[in-house]
Amino acid sequence: MQIAESLKQTKPYLFAEIDKKKNALKAQGVDVISLAIGDPDMPTPEHIVDAMAKAIKDPKNHQYPDYEGSFAYREAAATYMKRRFNVDVNPDTEVLALIGSKEGIAHIHTAFLNPGDYVLAPSIGYPVYSGGAIMQNGQVYYMPMNAENDFLADFDNVPEDVLAKAKIMFIGYPNNPTGAIAPVEYFDKAIAFCKEHDLLLVHDNAYCDLSFDGYVAPALLERPGAKDVAIEFFSLSKPYNMTGWRIAFATGNEMAIKALGTIKNNTDSGQFTAIQDAAIAALTGPQDCVAKMNEIYTQRRDLIIDALASIGLDVKAPKATIYIWAKVPEGYTSASFAEAMLEKAHVIVTPGSGYGPDGEGYIRISLTTPDDRILEAVRRMKEAMA
Ligand SMILES: *Cc1c(COP(=O)(O)O)cnc(C)c1O
Repeated sequence: MQIAESLKQTKPYLFAEIDKKKNALKAQGVDVISLAIGDPDMPTPEHIVDAMAKAIKDPKNHQYPDYEGSFAYREAAATYMKRRFNVDVNPDTEVLALIGSKEGIAHIHTAFLNPGDYVLAPSIGYPVYSGGAIMQNGQVYYMPMNAENDFLADFDNVPEDVLAKAKIMFIGYPNNPTGAIAPVEYFDKAIAFCKEHDLLLVHDNAYCDLSFDGYVAPALLERPGAKDVAIEFFSLSKPYNMTGWRIAFATGNEMAIKALGTIKNNTDSGQFTAIQDAAIAALTGPQDCVAKMNEIYTQRRDLIIDALASIGLDVKAPKATIYIWAKVPEGYTSASFAEAMLEKAHVIVTPGSGYGPDGEGYIRISLTTPDDRILEAVRRMKEAMA
């Protein structure tokens, strides 16, 4: 038996590896505190759960769902785009339901890459941008991303031979893992660049509704000409505490939506319609649950930043996302610091190097842990570093 060359090139998924280590320690009875994965710890709001409870009893929902998502769900997505961003999208042709945006991001490679083609991926980014390309026998060009360029992936210096074979450019702001936000001028520049070089621009907007201090994140699709070259991914996972439900949508360029839809209807058979009904309740129902979550994350953010400062880690307060991006202390790499924290403090942080080359020298801490555990984690980290 021989696995595919592309799979041999594929790295184990970052959090699958972290989970293995965590479970091994837990099996030994160790009290491990994970500040690693971005997985909201609070329950899905009740009105959303209630909508699911009702929908699950409807026998109509027990059959195969519509491939592209129910029309009602796609309409709710369009309603959300209008309410939230004043963007008009046609639910018929410009919206596609996804089984989580991770699924859509992975499959967009299948729709657009021929073997040997390049994707332009931020050199610090969600692992699926690059991993999806490798699985598709594609190649990855990492756009430099660092503190000097405010973590705005730089596409000014992509070599000509890469550009000639490039098909997709990925960006995502508010950014996981750096917490960076992008000015709309950056979006405009990306749209112009992708138009000039005939690339599909993918904007991963998983955190647009998780923001603090009055900051309101834009959609790429608000920008003029975006629909000519771009699709944008939105996920219900983070704003509505729905990571386990697996529901998201893609919207934007009609041809790209159709291409992704064709890959999907040859791969999966859509998401359970009852889950889509719950998502409709989330997107079109009351939004105070999101505001409440943002208040809680703001408090946790400030708590962590103060605590990290007390152990000599200097970090900037992010205006959005659920992550703190921190430089490791002198003498450590991302991996050696994460390992030291796991071994000495039984605290899991994510090594920045797992997000790509420019992530080296950083760790990511997630805000999805209750205050008392955060404080306990930082107390242990302080002790471990003493
Ligand atoms: C969490 C996350 C996703 C995946 O979200 P799902 O809809 O749960 O698959 C996509 N992109 C980024 C940047 C994320 O952080």
